[in-house]
Amino acid sequence: AEEMLLQSEKLSVVGQLAAGIAHEIRNPLTSLVGFLKLIKCAPAQKIVEYTDIMLVELNRINSIVNEFMLISKPQRSRFEDKNVGDIIDNVVSLLQPQALLHNVEIDFNRMNDDVHMVKSDEGQLKQVFINLLKNSVEAMPGGGIIQIAIQRLGNKKMLIKLKDNGIGIAEELIPRLGDPFFTTKEEGTGLGLMVCYRIIEAHHGSMRIQSKLGVGTVIDIELPFVL
Ligand code: ADP
Ligand code: MG
Repeated sequence: AEEMLLQSEKLSVVGQLAAGIAHEIRNPLTSLVGFLKLIKCAPAQKIVEYTDIMLVELNRINSIVNEFMLISKPQRSRFEDKNVGDIIDNVVSLLQPQALLHNVEIDFNRMNDDVHMVKSDEGQLKQVFINLLKNSVEAMPGGGIIQIAIQRLGNKKMLIKLKDNGIGIAEELIPRLGDPFFTTKEEGTGLGLMVCYRIIEAHHGSMRIQSKLGVGTVIDIELPFVL
């Protein structure tokens, strides 16, 4: 029950996002205006440097807007019976090249031919696993292993476990995971986990994050089975 309360608190925060978005977008915009003014009378050798910084700021605005478009879409979601194993397989192949590039092995332990059906919007559920796997890859700058497994919990629920041996996060920061704009990354948006919580909630499931600094992170997602 405590966990449910936590999650609904996070969701109510989403309702008050407008001010946050405006703020997050204004910072990079202000900086863009500043650099444009500078560029007008900058020596040629400075221009490349300035435009590089401007590109970073523009990408940040772009990511923020993209992630919010995802959140504002749920009205159009289509829930169908899907096998979660297939969805994860799909996302793993999608991210494999990026993982390899970072020396990360993604190990999806798909037991026999177990079928885990869930009523789901495939695009949204994919987004959850993309966001989580990206975070894990980003948490392993020196490479590592991501393990994914699905198991049954009784006959009503399934448990999806994602485990990485990345940098982890300090205990006191764990309660902030999923808060809008909470990021520890230079170029992070701090929206990925919030989107995950939103989507899992819309699927009548729950998500829990455990992490230990220097050891790694474990994410548990519970979803109801299609009966
Ligand atoms: P972003 O990735 O843009 O920072 P997220 O909402 O995806 O935003 O993640 C928020 C923060 O949670 C990250 O900045 C990071 O500090 C922490 N985090 C998320 N996933 C992991 C992970 N697998 N390992 C360590 N820290 C993580
Ligand atoms: Mg992220």
